[in-house]
Amino acid sequence: MSWSLKIGKIFGIDFRIHVTFLLLLFLVFASGLSEKGLPEALRAVLFICAVFACVLIHELGHSLIARRFGTQAKSITLLPIGGIATVEEMPEKPSQEIAMSVIGPLINLAIAGVLFLAVGPWAGFGAPDLYPSSWRAFFAGLISVNVLLAIFNMIPAFPMDGGRVLRGILALRMDYVRATSIAVSVGQALSMLFIFFGILHNWWLAIIGFFLYIGAGSEKQQVLLRSALRRVPAREAMVTDFRVVRPDEPLARALEHAHHGCQEDFPVIGDAGIEGVLTRDRILAAIHEKGVNVPVSEVMDRNFASFDPQTTLDKVYRQLLSENKSAGAVLEDGALKGMLCLETISRYLMYQSALEKSAAWASSSTPSYARQG
Ligand SMILES: [Zn+2]
Repeated sequence: MSWSLKIGKIFGIDFRIHVTFLLLLFLVFASGLSEKGLPEALRAVLFICAVFACVLIHELGHSLIARRFGTQAKSITLLPIGGIATVEEMPEKPSQEIAMSVIGPLINLAIAGVLFLAVGPWAGFGAPDLYPSSWRAFFAGLISVNVLLAIFNMIPAFPMDGGRVLRGILALRMDYVRATSIAVSVGQALSMLFIFFGILHNWWLAIIGFFLYIGAGSEKQQVLLRSALRRVPAREAMVTDFRVVRPDEPLARALEHAHHGCQEDFPVIGDAGIEGVLTRDRILAAIHEKGVNVPVSEVMDRNFASFDPQTTLDKVYRQLLSENKSAGAVLEDGALKGMLCLETISRYLMYQSALEKSAAWASSSTPSYARQG
């Protein structure tokens, strides 16, 4: 995430803090200092740090469970609105998604329980206050914040943990796309209620509702996209009508093809077959650094991404992104069969969805034509 500072590693996971979080600490300290005094301002900063330490443990719970299920946990970032644990891929096995999601709120309940046993009788109960007036209020507030965090995160709406738990439970008895669809509808209905009551009573509730509504929609789109990609093999979406360049040709030759056609990535074919891929990024960088007369062999990517014709598009897409490549070659027994790039995939999906819509329109309109006939 941009504008976040890497603080270090916890259990091998990058720990980052967004600059706006530091800004929040500064604002709380400055306004506490001017309105209440130094001890209160310092206590407020410590209170926020303690709350976010609990958020960090919550996110660590998600990350470590994800790792147990074989997914790579990449980073945890703290923002003023909470924490984000980034993992390589959300598990789609319902039981794993439930376990990975429910662990966060459970951790907050456990922290509240431990704190209550340790200092509860002394600190008592109390609503959290950003500027705790005493250490008692500090700990009473920390206990209730953890209870509130657990409740808030279990709201059954994406992107909250509760939304994922709900989808997981539904997916135990139906297919993943349908489970997502229902969970998204529940989340969106709930967020509409938040917005409605928020406008009447509390604007914060309305703003939260708005973000939950957006989050639910984007989750549904991602799941639909993934399931669409999973159905299509590389063979079906690859470009088969393309130009090739030779390794000993000058870069100018590829530029000429790029100028007079729509192709931006070129397979480089030598006497023995494919030797590399010349991608748009490499062409642009080379023009700048080496000029257009440099031979293609000096610019091409020898370690190019390649796929079997049977590989499904979701895997192609993931591989291109993880290897940071814009295009790859589809090979069968070492022979070049086609080319695939990120744009090819999105173009394929665009035409496919248009075809599906027109097929749905044709089938839904057939009865009325039949009647007219
Ligand atoms: Zn969580």
